Amino acid sequence: MSGKRVFSGARPTGKQHLGNYLGAIRNYVHLQEQGYETIYCVVDLHAMTTSFENLRELTAEMVLDWMAAGVDPEKSIIFVQSSVPEVIELAWYFSTITPLGWLLRLPTFKEKVRAQPDNVNYGLVGYPVLMAADITLYKAEVVPVGVDQAPHLEFTREVVRRFNHMFGPVLVEPQALYTDFPKVLGIDGVNKMSKSLNNHIEISAPPEEIHQRVMMMVTDPQRTHRHIPGRPEVCNVFSFHKFFSPNELEMIDRECRTAGIGCVDCKKILSRNISDYFAPFREKRQELASDPSYVWDVLEDGRKRAKAIAEKTMAEVREAIYSKKPAGG
Ligand code: SF4
Repeated sequence: MSGKRVFSGARPTGKQHLGNYLGAIRNYVHLQEQGYETIYCVVDLHAMTTSFENLRELTAEMVLDWMAAGVDPEKSIIFVQSSVPEVIELAWYFSTITPLGWLLRLPTFKEKVRAQPDNVNYGLVGYPVLMAADITLYKAEVVPVGVDQAPHLEFTREVVRRFNHMFGPVLVEPQALYTDFPKVLGIDGVNKMSKSLNNHIEISAPPEEIHQRVMMMVTDPQRTHRHIPGRPEVCNVFSFHKFFSPNELEMIDRECRTAGIGCVDCKKILSRNISDYFAPFREKRQELASDPSYVWDVLEDGRKRAKAIAEKTMAEVREAIYSKKPAGG
């Protein structure tokens, strides 16, 4: 379905890794090319619930990766969340109509408390309220989500229903667009790929670095010797081959099971294919990064376009709130 407005936000995490690429960026480009009206937001206000460090640098590096991978600022709005402060105002209105119990029961809040027990701040509890404001401020009709993010979108839908019930049909109830985000494991083969665990491979890494990281990847633990056959279905290296080595997949599957190929050679094929896949990306990124002001010009243009939508929504929201009459009056 095309023409609908899509909103997606990502925390500024700097240079992107294979997990970001396979799980999100690829889909950003796909939705943009499908003709959706795509809005992609760097959610720096969300990032502050964890850290304030290097927000500008991390934003610029991430947006450069997005653009080099095909997110086109001519087709998509790319902007920074805090540059359109209306989102804070809407989040406040939402916070006054959201029962605290709705927030505390969300699984992500409990996960965050576990992840940063020394920094359980007020923003962490209100995180989903701000997220609901992000989506509704731009009247997004569709939000791409993985299954694990479904409760957050459902929360947004509940807030919208409550708001519209109290103040009139102003806001759009967003629909989930379920994407087959694969869970991309890191080179340790156990945890989700993430920078904080240092188990990642950056998509802008030079071929030598990609090679080094791929060589560190954990394989089928049963394959303790070159002559012992392996099981591709339990090997994380093979999971990456599925995407990066479509032409060699059958051969690798067969040769692994018969011990015809060793893990070192198998990884060499993978590192070469990842490097080749991202060669045009690296070139484009270098070109974009050669003008340091370019990324900020793009974000400024995105800010203006996002702000125009936000101002219109907020005029309607304020009108609805401030014209509310007493019940039965
Ligand atoms: Fe994994 Fe390849 Fe080794 Fe098989 S040969 S266990 S697919 S790394």
